[in-house]
Amino acid sequence: MMRSSFARRLMAIAAVLLVFCEDSAAARRPHARPQTPPLVITSDTRLLVVAPHPDDEVLAAGGLIQQVRVAGGKVRVAYLTDGDGFADGVKLENRDGKASAKDFRGYGRRRQKEARAALAALGLGEDAATFLSFPDQGLCKLIRTYWSDRRHPYKSPYTRRDRPPLNETFVTDTEYRGEDLTQELAKLIGDYQPTLILVPRKEDQHPDHCAAWFFLADALGDVRRVFPDYSTDVLNYIVHFKDWPFQDERSALPAPPGLNGGASGWIQVPLTPAEMKTKRAALVKYKTQQHAMKWFLDGFVRTNEIFSRPAPARVVLPLKPQPCC
Ligand SMILES: [Zn+2]
Repeated sequence: MMRSSFARRLMAIAAVLLVFCEDSAAARRPHARPQTPPLVITSDTRLLVVAPHPDDEVLAAGGLIQQVRVAGGKVRVAYLTDGDGFADGVKLENRDGKASAKDFRGYGRRRQKEARAALAALGLGEDAATFLSFPDQGLCKLIRTYWSDRRHPYKSPYTRRDRPPLNETFVTDTEYRGEDLTQELAKLIGDYQPTLILVPRKEDQHPDHCAAWFFLADALGDVRRVFPDYSTDVLNYIVHFKDWPFQDERSALPAPPGLNGGASGWIQVPLTPAEMKTKRAALVKYKTQQHAMKWFLDGFVRTNEIFSRPAPARVVLPLKPQPCC
């Protein structure tokens, strides 16, 4: 039997509306449910933010961190590097415009102090920060070229270090090798057992950020081998993607154009004016970064923060070819 024209018109309207839905994959299946639940923050939340550099945690999640703390949850930030390979930033701090290995190391220590002050501005204690002190601008090379002890460790061309300072490591004999970074992250996650992990998305165009996703995914595989019942929610954030978000000066942070919303659509976390003010106050603590790129930091203080969920992924490092650089 032929359908009535009214019914056909209704179906056409429904089809048009679905095209405008944010998650086009789900939209093509109108009865499909999101693969993962919405973001819920409670006093049981144990948040781990994986930050490639000091300041990424506030840029991406300065508001969400406050919300977890206010809900009575716990927050830890794992800084993969000290941000000690930022040559333009180091030269800016030196009157003569030069930068030695000593200057780069000093810059990293300064950024650690700034990170502690920023977390304090968000209401967190000293124990919230963990500095793994791996090489800034070098993480992507650890995914394959400097993966294991079959060759010498990576040596930072900035600090001239080939391993983190001794007091920064969980595992003895840690050097700048990929398997060592996975091991450090897995130890941290196994001990802390976060219920929610924020990590950059692999499409983030900074090689250290892209690499952070692969190391986290690899470390989670290791953790699950030891704790088979452990599960956690993983959300991705973006800091570096073309000229996003600076081409859009609206008060709300838009989704990066050209990127889909992942497994459950873009997740919007609205911020109150008070949370925005505190986020800005935390970013002000990053004096070296304010000096080098205030405009960049300011671009992330908006009325919301935005995240996506990765599709379930099994990552086993090392990978060939290197995915991030
Ligand atoms: Zn970064």
